[in-house]
Amino acid sequence: MASKNTANTALSPARLNADQAELQKFATLAHKWWDKNSEFKPLHEINPLRLNWINGLVDLKGKRVLDVGCGGGILSESMHFKGAKVTGIDLGEKALNVAKLHQLESGAEVDYQCISVEQLAALEPASFDVVTCMEMLEHVPDPASIVAACAKLVKPNGAVFFSTINRNPKAYLLAVIGAEYLLNLLAKGTHDYAKFIKPSELSSWARDAKLDVMSLRGMGYHPFKQSYHLSDDVAVNYLMHTVLSA
Ligand code: SAH
Repeated sequence: MASKNTANTALSPARLNADQAELQKFATLAHKWWDKNSEFKPLHEINPLRLNWINGLVDLKGKRVLDVGCGGGILSESMHFKGAKVTGIDLGEKALNVAKLHQLESGAEVDYQCISVEQLAALEPASFDVVTCMEMLEHVPDPASIVAACAKLVKPNGAVFFSTINRNPKAYLLAVIGAEYLLNLLAKGTHDYAKFIKPSELSSWARDAKLDVMSLRGMGYHPFKQSYHLSDDVAVNYLMHTVLSA
């Protein structure tokens, strides 16, 4: 019987907890990461919101931070500029090349590495004060394994932040039909509804990994004002703050 890819076991490339088609989607767009009018516009627009939310909860200054699924480095760079010592990991080599080039221009100092989170967890357990994993869980085959690896990488009492998309008819309408087809905010095919994650599911994976759920915030989009805001409505995009129990 084929064994399931469970937490912390995805160490060989053949068992990598990654979907090649998903990585390919991001590779095709990689040259656009820092184009604020491209498919990555929403990530640029939500970045100050999520950055300030994180920084308000943990004060990034002087912290050792790991950004999992960092892409072109939008969040990684901004956390560096808040005074954190940031490592960014992704399995998209093109995105990492763009990230490395961009920091030559911006002056950010982020340590970018092409390694899976499970592999890094085996090499450097309990090494980071803060781990962020934003807008990535909905693109992987086994998100629970990513959550467990994030928990393994953070120090006791350290914080792990996740963001993803809820799974319900409203999320389908807004995050897929609205964002990809009506408003053209994202490339068509960016999101696969079946991979969206309910907060209850993410909470239970977090608890299994000894991460206590501290807070949950929604991220809303105003189509007329064309702006994002934090809210209590977690029906579509949401952020979760967890802390590793000591
Ligand atoms: N976290 C960034 C980018 C989100 S886009 C931000 O919020 O700004 C999703 C990213 O996840 C892409 O860069 C993609 O290459 C990466 N990704 C997808 N599957 C992955 C996996 N299994 N391991 C690591 N990164 C992955």
